[in-house]
Amino acid sequence: MTLIGLDDTDSRERGMCTTYLAARLAEAVVDSGGTVERTLLVRLNPAVEHKTRGNAALAIHTDVDPDRALELAVAELEPLAELDDPRTSPGVVVADDAPDAVPPAVADFTRRAIRDFLDTEDALSRIEESGYRHRGWDGGRGRIGALAAVGAWAALDEWTHEHIAYRAFERCGTPRDVDGASVFEAAERFYPEVWDTVDSVEGQAVCVPNAPGPILYGVRGDDANAVVDLAERIESEPVERSATFLTNQGTDVHLREGTIDDLREGRAYRVDGTVAGDPETRRGGHVFFALRGRERPAAGIDCVAFEPTKRFRDCVRALRAGDELTVCGEVSDGTLKLEKFAVRSLRRTEEANPTCPQCGRSMASAGRDQGYRCRDCGTTAADPATVTLDRDLEPGWYEVPPCARRHIAKPLIRGGFDAPVHPER
Ligand code: ATP
Repeated sequence: MTLIGLDDTDSRERGMCTTYLAARLAEAVVDSGGTVERTLLVRLNPAVEHKTRGNAALAIHTDVDPDRALELAVAELEPLAELDDPRTSPGVVVADDAPDAVPPAVADFTRRAIRDFLDTEDALSRIEESGYRHRGWDGGRGRIGALAAVGAWAALDEWTHEHIAYRAFERCGTPRDVDGASVFEAAERFYPEVWDTVDSVEGQAVCVPNAPGPILYGVRGDDANAVVDLAERIESEPVERSATFLTNQGTDVHLREGTIDDLREGRAYRVDGTVAGDPETRRGGHVFFALRGRERPAAGIDCVAFEPTKRFRDCVRALRAGDELTVCGEVSDGTLKLEKFAVRSLRRTEEANPTCPQCGRSMASAGRDQGYRCRDCGTTAADPATVTLDRDLEPGWYEVPPCARRHIAKPLIRGGFDAPVHPER
């Protein structure tokens, strides 16, 4: 079988889209007499700086001859890729391998591309060692993603689906004409097999992107037929073409297990800790709290729920010092950007000034380590009172809403979590 990997063809301003190129290339493969077994949309490390938007790379699995595959890819890419944009650095990699039998070093490259940082040299040496064909333009950094896409079928075992409808190219840049009511109705009908189509609280059709480019809408879910069926119910401007991708979106495959003292910049983690202080809302509406290690309380990291995470911030604000959590998110600028968290245990009580047993008034501190004293009658008490806290959270997982979800992050509704879930929809 022949595996064609593609990446880095679009520009932030003009907005081509590598998925569109892959859809066209898949059609060109079929027109040339070949068959396409599947097309993968692989999300790589979301912390990579030079990504255009979602750090996606694409792979087409086909039966065309590898030399012909490279010719077809070059012929599709050259007229469409944004080669004039200095930040666009396209790459194509063609492998003559069974998708699940690429060399282990290539599958390992994919896993590292999702969780770590690589450079073009790393990619080129793996490509050469594996005897793969390749082409790069303007530095060809896209060969990192292209090789990662080639290794993805062997490297990953969890796949979801996205059905993307594309606009006529000449309409790109104009407002998208999609009937919101039809999106909401269809989303309701196919939930929870199809998720993140809308954000029902924000009233937003999240399947319709805001960025420039040819995507009209993209429907994501666990079932390949359901994403297509839902898309067919959306009323909109003409759909020029559409394609269904297998993808690692919604799988949390970017997260690695960590402990608070080994967190590194640009990586994303699942990490346990204890809330060190009550959360604080700072300028811009971002909510911060400090998390300390369970084993090593001296180690800690600030966690943040940014303003665009909307109602998720209320869950974060409801945390209290002493709550035990598992948090998930990417570390950047020394702060963990929360995608979801699990409450493992809630602090249910807090200390308060005791009530005077003689006169019933509230006692005051008598000084550091000196207990309490009643200002009215002079009665003393050694220990504080314990009062019960009213808590608005329950044990289990909380997540950002669909409008703030990263492509690769797993929605709670998909299941498989180790505690009860509180899904957003
Ligand atoms: P689009 O999906 O809309 O085409 P994008 O957001 O995927 O855009 P790209 O333009 O493809 O972004 O840019 C991402 C670049 O980063 C590519 O050149 C890719 O090869 C490279 N890249 C991907 N993963 C890594 C990684 N882990 N380390 C270093 N570079 C990476």
